[in-house]
Amino acid sequence: MRLILLGPPGAGKGTQAERLVRKHGIVQLSTGDMLRAAVDAGTEIGLKAKAVMDAGQLVSDEIVVGIVADRIEEPDAHNGFVLDGFPRTIAQAEALDRMLDDKRMQLDAVIEFQVDEEALVGRIVKRADEAKAAGKPVRKDDNPDVFRRRLQEFRAMTAALSPYYRARGMLHTVDGMAPIDSVETAIEAAIRQASKV
Ligand code: AMP
Repeated sequence: MRLILLGPPGAGKGTQAERLVRKHGIVQLSTGDMLRAAVDAGTEIGLKAKAVMDAGQLVSDEIVVGIVADRIEEPDAHNGFVLDGFPRTIAQAEALDRMLDDKRMQLDAVIEFQVDEEALVGRIVKRADEAKAAGKPVRKDDNPDVFRRRLQEFRAMTAALSPYYRARGMLHTVDGMAPIDSVETAIEAAIRQASKV
């Protein structure tokens, strides 16, 4: 199974991706996690990406497409994957189409999380507080100012992906403000519906 989770930062994509991984034996490909790992490891990509990420802006399509192309080649991704945080621009979506075409692979569904963007700011503050309380590192970009910038990037660049995938008959929308278990149920229903098409 190959899925894309689409929605603004803080919409719950990561939480649902983890559940999909457990249930379907696929891997989560989170470009945010991969980039944070590169920053922590101090790789060339990490050094290039750090300031951009800290400012809540988007890393270049070239870098992100490159890391996804490499990651999809890994054996554990052959069984399927859920993309979380990628694609974020039309150029990335087109690059993904080409990558999958080359490998004779197809996407099964794109799940769009519909959310109240203002409520997300509260969620992100909570996420930072919870990480702190658990003694985990707090993401530098999980503060209200940078978060608003990330929302702007979403509106400017990523929102265009909904019509892109709707035009291809792949878009399924779920209510991302519903309780976590309800969102999960709605995603499973969307996957069943997609598999019937
Ligand atoms: P995320 O964990 O998905 O919220 O991503 C955190 C940050 O990583 C974003 O604010 C961007 O700076 C960068 N990033 C993650 N995925 C992408 C992507 N597909 N394209 C560009 N930048 C990305």
